[in-house]
Amino acid sequence: MELRVEERELNLIHPWTLARGSSTAKRYAYVTLSHQGVSGRGEAAHNVRYGESLELVREVLRRCGERMVGVDPWKYQSLLAELGDLVRPCRSALAAIDLALFDWIGQSTGRPLYQLFGLDPSAMPLTSVSIGIGSREEVMTKLAEAEAHPILKIKLGGDNDEEIMDAVRTVTAKPVRVDANEGWQTPEQALEKIQWLAGLGVELVEQPLPAGRIEDMRWLKERSPLPLVADEDIHTAADLPRLAEAFHGINLKLMKAGGILEAVRTIHAARALGMRIMIGCMIESSLGITAAAHLGSLADWLDLDGNLLIRDDPFLGATTANGRIELPAGTGLGVSARQEA
Ligand code: MG
Repeated sequence: MELRVEERELNLIHPWTLARGSSTAKRYAYVTLSHQGVSGRGEAAHNVRYGESLELVREVLRRCGERMVGVDPWKYQSLLAELGDLVRPCRSALAAIDLALFDWIGQSTGRPLYQLFGLDPSAMPLTSVSIGIGSREEVMTKLAEAEAHPILKIKLGGDNDEEIMDAVRTVTAKPVRVDANEGWQTPEQALEKIQWLAGLGVELVEQPLPAGRIEDMRWLKERSPLPLVADEDIHTAADLPRLAEAFHGINLKLMKAGGILEAVRTIHAARALGMRIMIGCMIESSLGITAAAHLGSLADWLDLDGNLLIRDDPFLGATTANGRIELPAGTGLGVSARQEA
């Protein structure tokens, strides 16, 4: 196998603001894995929250590329396990390779990715779109732009939660999910917020407290009127045993898990523990979003909107209309580069 790495800049439609900061563009690494005349593609949407950087991704992919020379892609279980040890702590780099591998496998077998896992894309739930933190006016603008989307995910955890939710409920009665992005500080404060949000008809709350606060989360789970979904606390299946008593569900992302293989493993392990599943994303191009959408029917909730935040998506893949994600035709991921189309 040969691994080629290139970088691309993704410009965002709006500056993206969460409880932990703001950004206007992303520069990510993209890989092409070639073997026996077939090429698969992958994306590493790295996240500084998890100690990742473009420099780290570059270095890790270089080491992985060396390790993959002469390896049979069909022995991907042992290969990905080995690369997983090599990439630590940079799961997004592993995800890029894993996506490219499954794209390659799908194209080599003439099957779309979802078929390799026996999944039915028509059973996919609708996706939410996220509204970042902002002033009342900024939130109003984004809500107007999101008009065609039936489910909203509202980012809270800054210093104007009340103002944002007031804007939301002034303009829409749509289903709303809330993501605090670790922004609330004590379990008592979080409980008060969650009770208030339950009164506003919110469906669920994601990551109310900073990651690692498992005892506080157990306390909160016993009292919460809404399902609590782990995001910053969950990466791979190995995190699940300590989370099962602390959250009702997990928000799984390919970039945190390290790709499709670990994501599927984590979903099945979480189900066995009685947990519910959200499949989410980073700000990603249509390449990463399409890969996640192939697994969409495994989820209770979908939050695959990262590509919709980008002005100049370099790839063509899944499309979203009225919350319904349509997978592209074609084998593997079914993604093509925009300039080739
Ligand atoms: Mg989140």
